[in-house]
Amino acid sequence: MELTLHKSRGAPGAETSGKGVVRNMHTIDQSEFHKLYGPRKPRAVYYKKDFCDYLLMIMVCVGIIILSYGLVSPMSIAGLALCAFTLSMFVARHGVEFRLPVVLVRPQELFYLFVYKLQNLKPVYFVALGMLLLENFLTVATPNLPHYAEALRKTALYLFYGHFLSITVYRTAILIDHLRKKHLVREVLMQTAWQRAIKENTNISLEIFHAYATGILTHIILIAPWYIVITHVRFSLVFLPVTLVLNIVIHVKWTKVLNEWFYRDHWLGHNSELDFIFLHGPHHDAIPSGLIAVAENGFLEGFLRHTIGYPSTFYNPVAAFLLYMLEIKKDIDVHQYIPGIFPRMKREMLEIAQHSTHHYGSLEPYGFALNFDHPSVTEEIRRSYRNIPDSLKYSIRLDQALTGFKWDNPTFRRILSLYDKYHNLGVVDGRSHENQGPIPDEN
Ligand SMILES: [Zn+2]
Ligand SMILES: [Zn+2]
Repeated sequence: MELTLHKSRGAPGAETSGKGVVRNMHTIDQSEFHKLYGPRKPRAVYYKKDFCDYLLMIMVCVGIIILSYGLVSPMSIAGLALCAFTLSMFVARHGVEFRLPVVLVRPQELFYLFVYKLQNLKPVYFVALGMLLLENFLTVATPNLPHYAEALRKTALYLFYGHFLSITVYRTAILIDHLRKKHLVREVLMQTAWQRAIKENTNISLEIFHAYATGILTHIILIAPWYIVITHVRFSLVFLPVTLVLNIVIHVKWTKVLNEWFYRDHWLGHNSELDFIFLHGPHHDAIPSGLIAVAENGFLEGFLRHTIGYPSTFYNPVAAFLLYMLEIKKDIDVHQYIPGIFPRMKREMLEIAQHSTHHYGSLEPYGFALNFDHPSVTEEIRRSYRNIPDSLKYSIRLDQALTGFKWDNPTFRRILSLYDKYHNLGVVDGRSHENQGPIPDEN
């Protein structure tokens, strides 16, 4: 079915703001975004019947970590320990039921999974990959030029580890604030769809640590393709100025198609059962906090998206470093959906995007769900997003056109009311001032 991408009447401010509408107006094909070769099985959470599939998924993670980093590197040791931890947490949190894995019941789904990924590739992906291969070829073919390839590789490795460690330090600071306010975490989540998992007797410290472990393991696997590129491709100081400029041009083009690419990939992550269990599920298996965030993905999903999806893995390591630093830090900040806890989100930022709704039990929206038609978009936000294309700033329109998503919905209203209730409250002994009932025994 063909639809026209336009402003939704349901979007606040839609009648008054016309910015970007004409530029964004184009016809979209719903059947392309929602195409499935197998059965549609919407999923948002894991069940104990998924145990065998989850075990297989973790085994593939182990294989990828060892093949990428080697068996005895610090990244591997941390990654393998976290694989063991997340597997044991699956057993503790969901239980175990032995069922033939989906990948054996419908093996064709595995083939489809790769077909979907390949079909969704954008032209800029091939340009970035082609540039990387060309630079490698030219560097090897002209040994007399001062490429300084080994020095560049060493620098790139410093950047790689500097990136991982600095993000992990930031994630650890967030962990400490969650543990300090663990009663508040429980109190908020028990008033949302998370009450199915978070109860009075749930070990909330363990849930918080599980979210932290999910974030670190997702991060280790997501940057594995970047590590492979750094350690296997020869970069040249001679070509550096040109490649950096071209990387910027490619990335500007990529951001224009990013929401459409992400909508399709993310829709598959929730509507193809194999995609959910093997790829996207871990992103929704931990509490909705900045602790879990890397780049909107599960464990294996990060590896696949950064080998057959995003072009950024193939950028010069300096450009890749800057991009990973900015985007992962931002993704962490915009996933802090439990109010009153570091990194504290501003209300106007919560108000103009609805990914929070997705983490609080709703399948939709599937895109980045930003709404720059919203009256809460301040001049400061407009300034900080001035280099972001309209396809991202008005990304909610794609969901509105494809699924009829309503901006004003009960889940979102609940999120905003919890924010108003808890964001500015003081916290004593890890719980809000307002709730003065007996502090439960800590697990
Ligand atoms: Zn999702
Ligand atoms: Zn998310």
